[in-house]
Amino acid sequence: MGKLSGKVAIITGGARGMGAATSRLFVAEGAKVAIADVLEEDGAALAAELGEAARFYKLDVTNEDDWARVVAAAEADLGPIDALVNNAGILMFKSILETTKADYERVLGVNLVGEFLGIKAVAPGMIARGKGSIVNVSSVDGMKGANSLVAYASSKWGVRGLTKVAAMELGHKGIRVNSVHPGGVDTVMSNHTGAPRAEVDKGYANVPMQRIGGPEEIAAATAFLASDESSYCHGTEIIVDGGMTVGTYYMGFPGSPGM
Ligand code: NAD
Repeated sequence: MGKLSGKVAIITGGARGMGAATSRLFVAEGAKVAIADVLEEDGAALAAELGEAARFYKLDVTNEDDWARVVAAAEADLGPIDALVNNAGILMFKSILETTKADYERVLGVNLVGEFLGIKAVAPGMIARGKGSIVNVSSVDGMKGANSLVAYASSKWGVRGLTKVAAMELGHKGIRVNSVHPGGVDTVMSNHTGAPRAEVDKGYANVPMQRIGGPEEIAAATAFLASDESSYCHGTEIIVDGGMTVGTYYMGFPGSPGM
């Protein structure tokens, strides 16, 4: 018996990266998974790899009609939705002055509006059944500021606020809502050239654990929040960042890397 045995989950952005690692772990833990993504080829290949327990559904998280279609299809194929992992996201590096209104709206559209629409799409069924777990993927950039990430950080801070409000409104209806805040994770998003981990880790010298995270390390926190093991976690934030948000090193002073 896995920790997600008998549960049905929708995982957005499930076709690759952290979403794919999450889909694999959920299936290994006994869940049936709706892999929902715009990437049809990757999504179909992952569903084929995972067999009976997984199906791929084409979903653009910014499209409300897509959400209605995918939730209905997943419920018909797999059963009532117990868990939603709002994971789909995009990243953009631009200064405030370079960022156009369209840029800003595009990033907020996918990262924030997409998660809002996901909650709206699954909540009625969860409310009717009196149970459910929603995991919103934010970021360490939803906990602090970062130059060149105005749209991304705004969206990820927004996800944190969205999570708190959803926790207030849905908790007393039996639905738990929490957020996960990854630091750097070895996916296309943070390692778009696919450089070897040892190379990538060099860029993390200032992080206490001195390495990038693996997508499966974030998936573990998400699986915990989706499972009944976290039955009293609600409106909370799990930061999975190797200590990135803990503090800033005074390099060369005692206790800093190399000292
Ligand atoms: P990734 O680029 O590998 O995967 C993102 C997935 O989201 C892709 O499969 C993509 O097709 C999908 N997606 C994008 N736009 C979509 C849309 N409109 N509708 C449906 N699906 C869409 O990146 P990842 O690292 O796996 O990112 C997963 C989540 O983790 C994102 O929300 C990201 O912001 C967050 N995150 C990533 C990191 C990191 O360092 N990789 C750190 C913190 C948070």
